[in-house]
Amino acid sequence: MEIFINVILPIPLEKQFTYCVSEYEAALLKVGMRVAVPFGKSKIYTALVVEIHNRPPLAYEAKTIHNILDEHPIVTSNQLKHWQWIADYYMCTQGEVFRSAIPSALLLESETLILPNKDVIIDEDQLKDDDFLVYEALKYQNILRVNDIMEIVDKKNILPILNRLLQLKAIVLKEEIHEQYKPKMVRYVRLGKKYNSEPELEKLLSSLTRAPKQSQVVLSLFHLQATKKKPIKLHELEIDSKSSRAVIRALINKEVLEEYFIQTDRVAFNGSKALEPPKKLNEYQVKALDIIKQNFKNKKVTLLKGVTSSGKTEVYVKLIAECLSEGKQALYLVPEIAITTQLISRLLEYFGSTISVFHSKYNMHEKVEVWKNVLNNRPKAQLIIGARSALFLPFADLGLIIIDEEHETSFKQYDPAPRYHARDAAIVLGGLFNSKVLLGSATPSIESYNNAQTGKYGYAQIDRRFGNVLMPDMELVDIKSQYRKKRMKGHFSERLLEEITETLKLGEQVILFQNRRGYAPILECTTCGHSPQCPNCDVSLTYHKQRNQLRCHYCGHSIAFPNSCHACGSNTLDTKGFGTEQVEQELNSFFPSAKVARMDLDTTRGKHAYAKIIHSFENQETDILVGTQMLTKGLDFRNVNLVGIMNADALLNFPDFRAHERTYQLLTQVAGRAGRTKKRGKVIIQTFNPYHQILKQVTTGDYTGMFEEQLYERELYKYPPVTRIIRISFKHKEYNKLNEASAWFAQSLKNAGKIQVLGPEFPSVARIRNQYLKHVMIKIPKSVSLQKTKKSIKRIQNSFDAIAKFKGVRIIYNVDYM
Ligand code: ADP
Ligand code: ZN
Ligand code: ZN
Repeated sequence: MEIFINVILPIPLEKQFTYCVSEYEAALLKVGMRVAVPFGKSKIYTALVVEIHNRPPLAYEAKTIHNILDEHPIVTSNQLKHWQWIADYYMCTQGEVFRSAIPSALLLESETLILPNKDVIIDEDQLKDDDFLVYEALKYQNILRVNDIMEIVDKKNILPILNRLLQLKAIVLKEEIHEQYKPKMVRYVRLGKKYNSEPELEKLLSSLTRAPKQSQVVLSLFHLQATKKKPIKLHELEIDSKSSRAVIRALINKEVLEEYFIQTDRVAFNGSKALEPPKKLNEYQVKALDIIKQNFKNKKVTLLKGVTSSGKTEVYVKLIAECLSEGKQALYLVPEIAITTQLISRLLEYFGSTISVFHSKYNMHEKVEVWKNVLNNRPKAQLIIGARSALFLPFADLGLIIIDEEHETSFKQYDPAPRYHARDAAIVLGGLFNSKVLLGSATPSIESYNNAQTGKYGYAQIDRRFGNVLMPDMELVDIKSQYRKKRMKGHFSERLLEEITETLKLGEQVILFQNRRGYAPILECTTCGHSPQCPNCDVSLTYHKQRNQLRCHYCGHSIAFPNSCHACGSNTLDTKGFGTEQVEQELNSFFPSAKVARMDLDTTRGKHAYAKIIHSFENQETDILVGTQMLTKGLDFRNVNLVGIMNADALLNFPDFRAHERTYQLLTQVAGRAGRTKKRGKVIIQTFNPYHQILKQVTTGDYTGMFEEQLYERELYKYPPVTRIIRISFKHKEYNKLNEASAWFAQSLKNAGKIQVLGPEFPSVARIRNQYLKHVMIKIPKSVSLQKTKKSIKRIQNSFDAIAKFKGVRIIYNVDYM
């Protein structure tokens, strides 16, 4: 009987593909292994085996596979189930989930090889110089890679050369696939085998007396072996013996020393330090922990609402320790791994070398190592800390998932597909392992708190800060009247300046929050009103003073700062609005002796940039830290006693049904950075609307008030959690085509009935990177089946795809859009 396999390809195909395999191959193959398969005309892909069966495909003849890439499965059956759920729920393909789930180094790439065509004789005179060089080289080498050819002709673009040589039939091309992941091998040394016996060793030592440098190396090796009782790295020996690599090399050549290699992980946490025992919890923490454990007996998910600095992390630590002691793995999800250096060093103290971190800034080799350690349930992969993508790791036995700062919107992936919410996908993952799931936040999302209220989730709370430190004292400053009375200095009210002065005088630190980067979002000519726009996007260019540039925050396009107005030529240019750069500059002029640092996208691009800024603020080398919402995420500073919000209104006026909820969360979280130890902190919120309900709720810490009001509005206007929403985006470079296509789709949805369809509407930035954009929002009441709605959307898309004039219009689904 013929044997077939179904595979997922890492491309957006709706269906699985079937290949046929030999009996021999079938005996080796298991679900979850990778195979290299031919696809399309000449491509080779890394595919994942998901089923082995005997049903030939009906629509096409099954091709044979190229080869098998794994000895053991690298993807587990739970992962396959989880990915299937993600694809179904978030309306994307399994291939898209596969591609983003697996470290790219495990997706083999094919590389083009260039071979001489031995069957054709070429008249060398007709070759151009570059072509000739390549042709000559192939006579001697037989195979060249693209990189080799670039080197030979010293050019980056070698396509024209290859095309000419192909046309003359002088070369043939061949695809070769290769594993991208390369294990890191570390060089070790030991004494040559010959010297394992005493007499030989003595002979050696006496012979070396004439070569003091070499003798030093050998003695050093003995010393290291005696003290470390571990294999000795060549590098260590070099340092310990204070000799050069050449001397060691000479000994290796003489076979006195022997070198060998051991595969090592690129990232390893030093586990040699003694671990700290977990802290003793205070009564409120103990109570919360008890309730959480009680809840876990009959509820899969529990929400812990604890005010900022109440010691939630220490509660997590207890749960993690318990999970690990049962021999199970724990997953700790954080909204953004890059800014959690503080958290990681804190957890390292308790859990040391059992920790693995899955980091978006890790390179592809490092990611493969974590993947394999998690898959094999290695001792070093018991507690996994990571951002949303850590959810895709091949857990062997997951006992606990912690989702810290569960309200954070960065848990939702925006682009590309799968556009999943890590919190929700983690709850599903927890279900597959029957593991416990704890959501934690000082400001839970309306969704989660609602689920706790209705009893779907368990619930625990901590209302006091650890050590009974008071919640910060919050003060609203009405800057409208301050501006009118001309009392503002730059963008600072008198009150804020007073407080900063006072705080600095006491040797304490200040955090200032402004949720816009750059110097000013708009540059405007006061003569004609023109303001420079991005040529690719419908948006004004942001002024970055430090680089003397205008830059687009959507596509990155930049131009030099203009000396005069591009429209009327006058030089009366003025800025509107302000960003972090301007705040920083004003501070430098108001407080010349204070050290000011800035934390936003522009200052944190490098791999270690965040850590550096945070570290120097922790060490009090900086007095004032200005930043965007990056500041809000779980940072714990000892000496910050003042937090200033430069302008709360920009948040409130954001055109989104979650704007008020988010403002509450953001402001409460930033405020929570103040006065975390001993002394009561101070928070100043500058606003044009001091009587705004949300701001009142923030200052009084009235979470329930906020929740009830928001829930009421969501019920009134039919937004989540009362309904579910799917946002469908349409993209195309032609304005008219986009309008027509999106209108057709929206009308078809409306005809389908039952669901509420809003739009199509242009977003506030209607064109990005030369593509026009329109959104349709679908609201699905809880009483209507989500599954069925998605099916009818897909049916409409099938008809849409068949309409020739809509060809090329991209459709993007975002389920549970946020
Ligand atoms: P949260 O995560 O709720 O914002 P943290 O866990 O960061 O709060 O705790 C705030 C501060 O209080 C931290 O510096 C932490 O080390 C300290 N802390 C919390 N619980 C304890 C405890 N039981 N014993 C000693 N220190 C604690
Ligand atoms: Zn002008
Ligand atoms: Zn742009």
